[in-house]
Amino acid sequence: MIELHLHLDGSLSESELNEIKRKFYASEDVPYTPVRFDGRGGLGEYLKCFRYPLLLLRKPESVYFAICALSERLHAQGEEYCEIRFAPALSAGIEGVAEIADAAERAACDLNGKGVYTGIVFCCMRGAPEKENLAVAKTAADKIRNGKGVVGVDLAGDEGRYPNEDYSGIFAFLRESETPFTVHAGEARGAESVGSAILFGARRIGHGVAAASDERVIAMMRERGVLAEMCYTSNLQTGAWKGGREGYPLRKFISEGVKVSLNSDNTTVSGTDLKREYSLLGINGEEARILYSRAFEAAFPNAAAAAFFVNRGKGHL
Ligand SMILES: [Zn+2]
Repeated sequence: MIELHLHLDGSLSESELNEIKRKFYASEDVPYTPVRFDGRGGLGEYLKCFRYPLLLLRKPESVYFAICALSERLHAQGEEYCEIRFAPALSAGIEGVAEIADAAERAACDLNGKGVYTGIVFCCMRGAPEKENLAVAKTAADKIRNGKGVVGVDLAGDEGRYPNEDYSGIFAFLRESETPFTVHAGEARGAESVGSAILFGARRIGHGVAAASDERVIAMMRERGVLAEMCYTSNLQTGAWKGGREGYPLRKFISEGVKVSLNSDNTTVSGTDLKREYSLLGINGEEARILYSRAFEAAFPNAAAAAFFVNRGKGHL
Protein backbone atom coordinates (compact mmCIF):
# COMPACT_ATOMS: atom_id res chain seq x y z
CA MET A 1 0.00 0.00 0.00
CA ILE A 2 1.04 3.57 -0.66
CA GLU A 3 -0.24 6.53 1.35
CA LEU A 4 0.15 10.07 0.02
CA HIS A 5 -1.99 12.13 2.40
CA LEU A 6 -1.25 11.71 6.09
CA HIS A 7 -0.76 14.40 8.74
CA LEU A 8 1.90 13.79 11.36
CA ASP A 9 0.09 15.64 14.16
CA GLY A 10 -3.22 13.90 13.48
CA SER A 11 -1.76 10.42 13.21
CA LEU A 12 0.39 9.92 16.31
CA SER A 13 -1.19 7.31 18.57
CA GLU A 14 -1.98 8.02 22.24
CA SER A 15 0.93 5.80 23.26
CA GLU A 16 3.34 7.56 20.90
CA LEU A 17 2.17 10.92 22.27
CA ASN A 18 2.67 9.69 25.83
CA GLU A 19 6.17 8.56 24.97
CA ILE A 20 7.00 11.93 23.39
CA LYS A 21 5.67 13.70 26.48
CA ARG A 22 7.78 11.50 28.76
CA LYS A 23 10.97 11.72 26.69
CA PHE A 24 11.02 15.36 25.65
CA TYR A 25 8.58 17.36 27.78
CA ALA A 26 8.85 15.64 31.18
CA SER A 27 9.53 18.85 33.06
CA GLU A 28 6.90 20.91 31.25
CA ASP A 29 3.19 21.27 31.78
CA VAL A 30 1.59 20.22 28.48
CA PRO A 31 -2.20 20.35 28.93
CA TYR A 32 -3.92 17.31 27.46
CA THR A 33 -6.90 17.81 25.17
CA PRO A 34 -8.71 14.96 23.36
CA VAL A 35 -6.99 13.78 20.18
CA ARG A 36 -9.78 11.63 18.77
CA PHE A 37 -12.76 13.29 17.09
CA ASP A 38 -16.06 12.16 18.58
CA GLY A 39 -18.01 12.90 15.41
CA ARG A 40 -19.78 16.02 16.71
CA GLY A 41 -19.32 19.64 15.68
CA GLY A 42 -17.82 19.35 12.20
CA LEU A 43 -14.52 20.83 11.06
CA GLY A 44 -14.16 23.28 13.98
CA GLU A 45 -14.23 20.52 16.59
CA TYR A 46 -12.19 18.22 14.35
CA LEU A 47 -9.35 20.77 14.25
CA LYS A 48 -9.29 21.06 18.07
CA CYS A 49 -8.00 17.47 18.19
CA PHE A 50 -4.64 18.69 16.84
CA ARG A 51 -3.89 20.98 19.80
CA TYR A 52 -2.20 18.45 22.06
CA PRO A 53 -0.04 16.78 19.38
CA LEU A 54 1.11 20.20 18.16
CA LEU A 55 2.28 21.11 21.66
CA LEU A 56 4.43 17.97 21.58
CA LEU A 57 6.00 18.79 18.22
CA ARG A 58 7.72 22.02 19.25
CA LYS A 59 11.22 20.54 19.52
CA PRO A 60 13.38 19.12 16.71
CA GLU A 61 14.06 15.96 18.69
CA SER A 62 10.35 15.31 19.23
CA VAL A 63 9.64 15.84 15.52
CA TYR A 64 12.42 13.39 14.63
CA PHE A 65 11.07 10.83 17.07
CA ALA A 66 7.46 11.30 15.90
CA ILE A 67 8.28 10.82 12.20
CA CYS A 68 10.30 7.69 12.95
CA ALA A 69 7.65 6.18 15.26
CA LEU A 70 4.78 6.82 12.83
CA SER A 71 6.72 5.63 9.77
CA GLU A 72 7.85 2.43 11.44
CA ARG A 73 4.32 1.67 12.62
CA LEU A 74 2.90 2.21 9.12
CA HIS A 75 5.68 0.09 7.62
CA ALA A 76 4.82 -2.73 10.06
CA GLN A 77 1.18 -2.42 8.94
CA GLY A 78 2.15 -3.03 5.33
CA GLU A 79 2.58 0.49 3.95
CA GLU A 80 5.44 0.38 1.45
CA TYR A 81 5.78 4.11 0.91
CA CYS A 82 4.21 7.00 2.78
CA GLU A 83 4.31 10.77 2.44
CA ILE A 84 3.93 12.37 5.87
CA ARG A 85 3.06 16.03 6.07
CA PHE A 86 3.23 18.64 8.80
CA ALA A 87 3.68 22.40 9.23
CA PRO A 88 7.18 23.27 10.50
CA ALA A 89 6.13 26.83 11.33
CA LEU A 90 3.28 25.60 13.55
CA SER A 91 5.86 23.65 15.53
CA ALA A 92 8.31 26.41 16.24
CA GLY A 93 7.38 29.64 14.50
CA ILE A 94 9.27 31.16 11.60
CA GLU A 95 12.56 31.29 13.52
CA GLY A 96 12.38 27.55 14.28
CA VAL A 97 11.58 26.35 10.74
CA ALA A 98 15.17 25.53 9.76
CA GLU A 99 15.88 23.39 12.82
CA ILE A 100 12.56 21.54 12.65
CA ALA A 101 13.01 20.97 8.92
CA ASP A 102 16.52 19.58 9.50
CA ALA A 103 15.14 17.11 12.05
CA ALA A 104 12.40 15.98 9.67
CA GLU A 105 14.86 15.52 6.83
CA ARG A 106 17.22 13.55 9.07
CA ALA A 107 14.35 11.29 10.17
CA ALA A 108 13.29 10.50 6.60
CA CYS A 109 16.89 9.97 5.52
CA ASP A 110 17.60 7.57 8.43
CA LEU A 111 14.32 5.71 7.80
CA ASN A 112 14.95 5.40 4.08
CA GLY A 113 18.40 4.01 4.85
CA LYS A 114 16.65 1.25 6.82
CA GLY A 115 14.20 0.44 4.02
CA VAL A 116 11.29 2.34 5.58
CA TYR A 117 10.36 4.64 2.71
CA THR A 118 8.95 7.93 3.89
CA GLY A 119 8.82 11.27 2.10
CA ILE A 120 8.24 14.49 4.02
CA VAL A 121 5.84 17.17 2.80
CA PHE A 122 5.96 20.59 4.48
CA CYS A 123 2.62 22.34 4.91
CA CYS A 124 2.18 26.04 4.35
CA MET A 125 -0.89 27.20 6.26
CA ARG A 126 -3.92 29.17 5.12
CA GLY A 127 -4.16 32.14 7.45
CA ALA A 128 -0.42 32.28 8.22
CA PRO A 129 1.58 35.36 7.16
CA GLU A 130 3.07 35.17 3.67
CA LYS A 131 6.57 35.63 5.08
CA GLU A 132 6.15 32.51 7.19
CA ASN A 133 4.72 30.42 4.34
CA LEU A 134 7.49 31.60 2.05
CA ALA A 135 10.12 30.56 4.60
CA VAL A 136 8.56 27.07 4.71
CA ALA A 137 8.31 26.84 0.92
CA LYS A 138 11.94 27.99 0.44
CA THR A 139 13.19 25.54 3.04
CA ALA A 140 11.29 22.74 1.31
CA ALA A 141 12.68 23.72 -2.10
CA ASP A 142 16.26 23.64 -0.75
CA LYS A 143 15.72 20.31 0.95
CA ILE A 144 14.11 18.74 -2.10
CA ARG A 145 17.28 19.63 -4.00
CA ASN A 146 19.26 17.77 -1.29
CA GLY A 147 17.26 14.65 -2.13
CA LYS A 148 17.41 13.36 1.42
CA GLY A 149 13.78 12.94 2.35
CA VAL A 150 11.77 16.14 1.84
CA VAL A 151 9.69 15.71 -1.31
CA GLY A 152 7.03 18.40 -1.60
CA VAL A 153 4.87 21.20 -0.23
CA ASP A 154 1.21 21.33 0.76
CA LEU A 155 -1.23 24.15 1.49
CA ALA A 156 -3.43 23.19 4.44
CA GLY A 157 -5.79 24.94 6.87
CA ASP A 158 -9.09 26.75 6.68
CA GLU A 159 -10.04 26.68 3.00
CA GLY A 160 -13.44 28.22 3.75
CA ARG A 161 -11.93 31.44 5.17
CA TYR A 162 -8.81 31.74 3.05
CA PRO A 163 -9.16 31.18 -0.71
CA ASN A 164 -6.33 30.02 -2.99
CA GLU A 165 -5.98 33.50 -4.48
CA ASP A 166 -4.50 34.73 -1.17
CA TYR A 167 -1.52 32.42 -1.78
CA SER A 168 -0.67 33.35 -5.35
CA GLY A 169 2.79 34.56 -4.24
CA ILE A 170 3.60 31.21 -2.64
CA PHE A 171 2.30 29.31 -5.67
CA ALA A 172 4.43 31.49 -7.97
CA PHE A 173 7.55 30.68 -5.94
CA LEU A 174 6.72 26.96 -5.99
CA ARG A 175 6.15 26.96 -9.75
CA GLU A 176 9.28 28.96 -10.51
CA SER A 177 11.45 26.75 -8.29
CA GLU A 178 9.80 23.63 -9.78
CA THR A 179 8.83 22.49 -6.29
CA PRO A 180 6.09 19.85 -6.46
CA PHE A 181 3.06 20.78 -4.44
CA THR A 182 -0.40 19.68 -3.43
CA VAL A 183 -3.25 21.86 -2.16
CA HIS A 184 -6.09 20.97 0.22
CA ALA A 185 -9.01 22.03 -1.99
CA GLY A 186 -12.61 21.13 -2.67
CA GLU A 187 -12.95 20.22 1.01
CA ALA A 188 -14.58 23.34 2.49
CA ARG A 189 -15.15 25.13 -0.83
CA GLY A 190 -16.62 24.11 -4.15
CA ALA A 191 -15.20 22.76 -7.40
CA GLU A 192 -13.88 26.22 -8.37
CA SER A 193 -11.33 25.96 -5.57
CA VAL A 194 -9.99 22.73 -7.11
CA GLY A 195 -9.90 24.39 -10.53
CA SER A 196 -7.95 27.41 -9.29
CA ALA A 197 -5.47 25.22 -7.36
CA ILE A 198 -4.77 23.35 -10.61
CA LEU A 199 -4.33 26.61 -12.53
CA PHE A 200 -1.89 27.76 -9.83
CA GLY A 201 0.16 24.64 -10.57
CA ALA A 202 -0.86 22.00 -8.02
CA ARG A 203 0.12 18.52 -9.18
CA ARG A 204 -2.18 16.90 -6.64
CA ILE A 205 -5.29 17.96 -4.74
CA GLY A 206 -5.93 17.07 -1.10
CA HIS A 207 -9.49 15.67 -0.95
CA GLY A 208 -10.99 17.34 -4.04
CA VAL A 209 -14.44 15.84 -3.37
CA ALA A 210 -16.25 18.98 -4.53
CA ALA A 211 -14.73 18.60 -8.00
CA ALA A 212 -17.18 15.75 -8.62
CA SER A 213 -19.97 18.28 -9.16
CA ASP A 214 -18.29 20.05 -12.07
CA GLU A 215 -17.46 18.22 -15.30
CA ARG A 216 -15.15 21.03 -16.41
CA VAL A 217 -12.96 20.60 -13.33
CA ILE A 218 -13.04 16.82 -13.76
CA ALA A 219 -11.83 17.33 -17.34
CA MET A 220 -9.01 19.60 -16.10
CA MET A 221 -7.89 16.97 -13.62
CA ARG A 222 -7.98 14.24 -16.27
CA GLU A 223 -6.20 16.27 -18.95
CA ARG A 224 -3.45 17.52 -16.63
CA GLY A 225 -3.02 14.22 -14.78
CA VAL A 226 -3.80 15.82 -11.40
CA LEU A 227 -4.38 13.25 -8.66
CA ALA A 228 -7.07 13.57 -5.98
CA GLU A 229 -5.79 12.41 -2.58
CA MET A 230 -9.11 11.17 -1.19
CA CYS A 231 -9.77 10.55 2.51
CA TYR A 232 -13.21 9.00 3.04
CA THR A 233 -13.67 8.93 6.83
CA SER A 234 -12.19 12.40 7.28
CA ASN A 235 -14.52 13.77 4.58
CA LEU A 236 -17.56 12.37 6.38
CA GLN A 237 -16.43 13.70 9.75
CA THR A 238 -15.69 17.25 8.62
CA GLY A 239 -18.77 17.45 6.43
CA ALA A 240 -16.73 17.78 3.22
CA TRP A 241 -18.81 14.89 1.90
CA LYS A 242 -22.45 14.53 2.93
CA GLY A 243 -23.63 11.96 0.43
CA GLY A 244 -22.75 8.66 2.17
CA ARG A 245 -20.75 5.75 0.86
CA GLU A 246 -22.65 5.00 -2.34
CA GLY A 247 -22.21 8.39 -3.94
CA TYR A 248 -18.66 9.04 -2.72
CA PRO A 249 -16.92 10.24 -5.89
CA LEU A 250 -13.86 7.95 -5.79
CA ARG A 251 -15.38 5.53 -8.31
CA LYS A 252 -16.73 8.36 -10.46
CA PHE A 253 -13.23 9.82 -10.68
CA ILE A 254 -11.75 6.43 -11.58
CA SER A 255 -14.36 5.82 -14.29
CA GLU A 256 -13.79 9.31 -15.73
CA GLY A 257 -10.06 8.76 -15.97
CA VAL A 258 -9.07 11.03 -13.06
CA LYS A 259 -6.11 9.84 -10.98
CA VAL A 260 -7.14 8.98 -7.43
CA SER A 261 -5.47 7.61 -4.32
CA LEU A 262 -7.14 6.59 -1.06
CA ASN A 263 -5.61 7.82 2.19
CA SER A 264 -6.33 8.07 5.90
CA ASP A 265 -5.60 11.80 6.47
CA ASN A 266 -5.38 11.52 10.29
CA THR A 267 -5.30 8.00 11.69
CA THR A 268 -5.73 9.08 15.32
CA VAL A 269 -8.08 12.06 14.97
CA SER A 270 -10.29 10.16 12.51
CA GLY A 271 -9.87 6.78 14.24
CA THR A 272 -8.96 5.00 11.02
CA ASP A 273 -6.13 3.53 8.97
CA LEU A 274 -5.58 2.75 5.33
CA LYS A 275 -6.86 -0.83 5.49
CA ARG A 276 -10.04 0.37 7.17
CA GLU A 277 -10.58 3.04 4.48
CA TYR A 278 -10.30 0.37 1.77
CA SER A 279 -12.71 -1.85 3.62
CA LEU A 280 -15.28 0.91 4.36
CA LEU A 281 -15.52 1.72 0.66
CA GLY A 282 -15.55 -1.97 -0.34
CA ILE A 283 -12.54 -1.52 -2.64
CA ASN A 284 -12.16 -4.65 -4.78
CA GLY A 285 -8.93 -6.15 -6.10
CA GLU A 286 -9.02 -4.40 -9.47
CA GLU A 287 -9.78 -1.03 -7.82
CA ALA A 288 -6.96 -1.57 -5.32
CA ARG A 289 -4.58 -2.21 -8.22
CA ILE A 290 -5.67 1.04 -9.89
CA LEU A 291 -5.34 3.06 -6.66
CA TYR A 292 -1.88 1.64 -6.00
CA SER A 293 -0.74 2.32 -9.52
CA ARG A 294 -2.00 5.92 -9.53
CA ALA A 295 -0.48 6.67 -6.11
CA PHE A 296 2.79 5.22 -7.36
CA GLU A 297 2.76 7.46 -10.43
CA ALA A 298 1.79 10.59 -8.48
CA ALA A 299 4.20 10.23 -5.55
CA PHE A 300 6.40 13.30 -5.57
CA PRO A 301 9.73 12.90 -7.37
CA ASN A 302 11.64 11.26 -4.66
CA ALA A 303 15.37 10.86 -4.57
CA ALA A 304 15.15 9.82 -0.92
CA ALA A 305 13.02 6.81 -1.62
CA ALA A 306 14.76 6.13 -4.92
CA ALA A 307 15.50 2.54 -3.97
CA PHE A 308 11.81 1.84 -3.53
CA PHE A 309 10.86 3.38 -6.85
CA VAL A 310 13.73 1.82 -8.74
CA ASN A 311 12.86 -1.59 -7.32
CA ARG A 312 9.26 -1.15 -8.29
CA GLY A 313 9.99 0.27 -11.75
CA LYS A 314 8.27 3.64 -11.31
CA GLY A 315 6.01 4.44 -14.19
CA HIS A 316 5.90 0.89 -15.49
CA LEU A 317 3.13 -0.60 -13.41
ZN1 LIG B 1 -5.34 16.69 5.08
